[in-house]
Amino acid sequence: MTVQFSGKRAYEHLRVLTEEIGPRHGGSRGEARAARYIRDYFKQLGLGAKLEHYPIYAFEDAKATLKTPRGSSIPCAPLPMTSATPARGVTKPCVFVEGADAVCLDEKVRDKIVVMFGSFNGELQEKFHSYEPAGLVSIQTAPHRLHFRYAYGSDAKRKIGSVPTVVLTLEDGLALLGNLPKTLTMKIATTDEKLTKGCNVVADLKGAASEDDVIVMCAHHDSVWGGPGAVDNGGGVAALMEFARVYAEQGVSRNMRFITFGGEETGVWGAKAYVKKLKDEDDRLKKDKNFERDGLKSPMDRIRFLINLDMMGPLHGKSNAVTLGHSDIAASARLLANELRYPLAVEENKVYSSDNMMFNYAGIPSISFNRGGFEDFGGHTVNDTIEHCSAKGLEHIGRMIERWIDRYIMSLHVFPFPKKFPEVADKAVKDWFKTDNPLDYEVFSPAKRYKPKGKRKRAPGKRGTL
Ligand SMILES: [Zn+2]
Repeated sequence: MTVQFSGKRAYEHLRVLTEEIGPRHGGSRGEARAARYIRDYFKQLGLGAKLEHYPIYAFEDAKATLKTPRGSSIPCAPLPMTSATPARGVTKPCVFVEGADAVCLDEKVRDKIVVMFGSFNGELQEKFHSYEPAGLVSIQTAPHRLHFRYAYGSDAKRKIGSVPTVVLTLEDGLALLGNLPKTLTMKIATTDEKLTKGCNVVADLKGAASEDDVIVMCAHHDSVWGGPGAVDNGGGVAALMEFARVYAEQGVSRNMRFITFGGEETGVWGAKAYVKKLKDEDDRLKKDKNFERDGLKSPMDRIRFLINLDMMGPLHGKSNAVTLGHSDIAASARLLANELRYPLAVEENKVYSSDNMMFNYAGIPSISFNRGGFEDFGGHTVNDTIEHCSAKGLEHIGRMIERWIDRYIMSLHVFPFPKKFPEVADKAVKDWFKTDNPLDYEVFSPAKRYKPKGKRKRAPGKRGTL
């Protein structure tokens, strides 16, 4: 009997990741446990699996309070990777700013607790910080949603200098704005905050064909801080582990590499570390002019294609495939979906903010599969629990991906997707790194902390080493 993707088996991995292990944010003990669990399973399958470590800044726990002058508490959560306030908290006049727009920013935010919808990103973040506000109360914009646990580029926030930030639900935020007091007291404390190690899990499976190229299949095993990360991305990891079993048992024609990355939610840190290692090796090898003349390939050259699984598990919602690279990748997914009568939204050369971006930046094309409905299942909040997921939900998308891999990755004699990026894809990828996630391989320690009035000079960011 042929081996087939089993939703039941994948679901069992998802249960361990979310129920037994729980929150797994980048650099935490939970993430390390998840990585060992995945590695041990790969080994059990007979794959040569290893952990690869890289430096990352993390804290285990954080607590925040926000109080009015009359002492009433406003429910809030600390923004992950926010800097802490002094132990007694900070009491400052507050000011409302409508949104992340340059016209909202001027001297009036200096040394105040700023209340606003959403939060700042990219260049505006830098401008915001230049006024050295005392704190930020970020009201999330979607109704009926628990505290959002993360915004992309949190390490970039540290680099610029983090302002102590708490997140409010829309409902609590509107109530606060309805009667905004003159001052607010914000207190944020973090525990076990340090430069620590994150880890990736890497396992190789040799293909029957003699070619030395590699197809990478990846998923991120970390969750947002404090959340169990079931759909995002326990489900993707569970599916990947099940794919590893299927292919280890049935064998593959092309070489496969299974990777689960850490630290995705705090700025694709695991993928960054992995690709940087390949890039350094590539640069080193190609210093020797004979290398390419002799037709040799670096480990980076050998990676031909990436399949990324990020957000999986629910039966409700809709499946998506987001491609970056040659238009035949999107065409293949559309044709198969049509043939299988499987509803699949295919988006071509569109940024998918996940581990694939690092590979795309290095010129490796990708397809990212996911199950949409982020808001419905409480994405990036404590509500992203296994209740939204089922064995059926995992099998529904898993079997479709299995068919696609079988046809377009394993069965074709000549690999169908060239390692080329059309201009539009190239631009989308580069722009993403410019605005959302500055491409910097260094970890920044929180040298620029909140400074009480009178000591406003900004200290230079200290680079972490490990
Ligand atoms: Zn994710």
